[in-house]
Amino acid sequence: MQKLLIGDRRPVGSGVIPVVEPATGEVFAEVAAASAADLDAAVAAARNAFATWSKLTAVARGEILFRFAELVYAHAEELAVLEARNVGKPINDARWEANHVAETIRYYAGAIDKFFGHTISVKKGGLDFTVHVPLGVVGLIVPWNFPMVIATWKLAPALASGNTVVLKPASLTPLTALRLGELALEAGVPPGVLNVVPGRGAEIGQQLVAHPDVAKIGFTGETATGRAIMATAAQHIKRVGLELGGKSPNIIFADVDLELVAREAANSVFANAGQDCCARSRILIERAAHEPFLEAFVQVTENLVVGDPLEEQTQMGPLISARQREISESYIEIGQSEGTRRLCGGQRLPRAGFFLTPAVLDGGRPGMRVVEEEIFGPVAVVMTFDTEEEAIELANGTIYGLSGSLWTNDLKRGLRVAQALRTGVLSVNSSTSVHLQAPFGGMKQSGLGRELGMHALEQYTEVRNIYFETR
Ligand code: NAD
Repeated sequence: MQKLLIGDRRPVGSGVIPVVEPATGEVFAEVAAASAADLDAAVAAARNAFATWSKLTAVARGEILFRFAELVYAHAEELAVLEARNVGKPINDARWEANHVAETIRYYAGAIDKFFGHTISVKKGGLDFTVHVPLGVVGLIVPWNFPMVIATWKLAPALASGNTVVLKPASLTPLTALRLGELALEAGVPPGVLNVVPGRGAEIGQQLVAHPDVAKIGFTGETATGRAIMATAAQHIKRVGLELGGKSPNIIFADVDLELVAREAANSVFANAGQDCCARSRILIERAAHEPFLEAFVQVTENLVVGDPLEEQTQMGPLISARQREISESYIEIGQSEGTRRLCGGQRLPRAGFFLTPAVLDGGRPGMRVVEEEIFGPVAVVMTFDTEEEAIELANGTIYGLSGSLWTNDLKRGLRVAQALRTGVLSVNSSTSVHLQAPFGGMKQSGLGRELGMHALEQYTEVRNIYFETR
């Protein structure tokens, strides 16, 4: 059994979390579940460690984190296999993610001594300057779809800027978080700076959010959970960073290379088996290109290789759980009863594991549940538009505003539409809207705050203003 990581201790917790491999449906590991006392001990360890970690110079913290990044690079294959088995994601995607984790830690190790304050000319004269100070103990609560990537997007800037961390991974996927905690210790991150406590969200997660010694919660997960976290955090005016759900649009005008866009569109909705907050799950196609686009898109979708995550050629693995597969299946049913037409997919594979072939529903319209609700599975809904204005209205017509893509060769139209969309990130003529060096996060009910780039450092520090009278 994998034990908790609190300071340099490895407590056994108060129960066992069976960890299932989605490709087989079998339990392949066991992890200790933290008790309330363990959570308190983790916060206390982080609080003690803060006294020294926060006093190190930025350069000194950076040097330790560079060693952490190097160790992650050295263990990238091990982490990739763990993640591929635990989440069911294709091994090549998991390899990219493991290297991205190392790159993220390296980015913040190098960024922190370049995160400057300001000197400000104030009316009264004298010397006025700002400094960025760490918040204290930060609680990080992460989901199961990109376990090590999302944890690292938070813990790297949090640690670099002098905070200490209590990380609660999702119960379905606690393995890489624990391994990262071990590698951090091995790299020389002092005990207590990064603590890892798997446990149930409604208990341990909730306790972390309510804890008076925790200064901030960095959360990624469902919008409903984010809402509950914000309400609890309000008690202590606790800082919150929320990365929540999405129902992102992929707007395609008829003037593009439809074969190319069909391939990109399939990738941007079915990668990670659609379990991606940025999944472009609403495809908005200009009427003139509806038929040729759908023909190409369905063909690409049917040709996606669904299978064992550890096979090199696999492009889509299983869903994370039996429940997540049932949710997707039920949305396919709902979509058809609402009047959409299923063009392909939605079949289970004749083998163990939670496999489901990617599905395309055509004829989506505003008001349908499959158009408005986040499915978080391999289901794309296609809608048709006639005008630029209609495309913008459809794209913006949800409670979410995380991500999106826009395809056109008309430069002026591209700029007009890009500026009219209400999403935190957008890619034009590309599926890639996440860049380590640039801010990432949602508008509307997709979240609060930004991760990545230098923006993330602002989210894990307070700005203090100090004025010196010199007369
Ligand atoms: P979830 O909200 O069920 O769980 C996320 C984490 O919160 C888990 O660690 C869980 O144990 C914990 N948790 C659950 N209830 C809690 C509570 N009451 N108090 C404190 N912690 C609690 O989400 P999930 O099902 O793991 O992940 C899928 C969701 O995450 C989707 O909605 C997806 O869009 C979203 N997501 C968003 C982003 C983003 O960057 N915006 C990225 C990935 C996933």
